[in-house]
Amino acid sequence: MAVGIGFDIHPLKRGRKLILGGVPIDFPLGLDGHSDGDAVLHAVTDALLGATGKGDIGDWFPSDDRFRGADSRDLLRKVRRQALRGWKVENADVNVLASRPVLGALKLAIRQSIARLLGIPASRVSVKGKTARGLGDVGKGKAIAAQAVVELRRR
Ligand code: MG
Repeated sequence: MAVGIGFDIHPLKRGRKLILGGVPIDFPLGLDGHSDGDAVLHAVTDALLGATGKGDIGDWFPSDDRFRGADSRDLLRKVRRQALRGWKVENADVNVLASRPVLGALKLAIRQSIARLLGIPASRVSVKGKTARGLGDVGKGKAIAAQAVVELRRR
């Protein structure tokens, strides 16, 4: 087996669509970034790459014209196809750090979306919310961050 860890943080900006874990969320601000800014899927993708020792998301998808506005689901799917050959995902545990929007009602949809993208049942995916209680850029509602751990097993 192999374990990988991923982290990401993006600033919240006006005029961007908010997408977390591949789920579009109705909110006046979105995550700024070269791609769609989906910090949750970026953390999961980096965890997959970490577990397989195949670099990081920046190595795979540099900030050039090819990946401008990229759908992070496509980035994860490509990593799954190319880096995870011979491996299957056992489980994923994800922390989403956001003081806004309130994550409560969104966690299930994010969990199901990540599970679908990883090709595993939602029961093998955990999505936990943290508000940071007013501390730092996350706590002040200026950014959203995510942490992910994945476990892989040889097929
Ligand atoms: Mg990112």
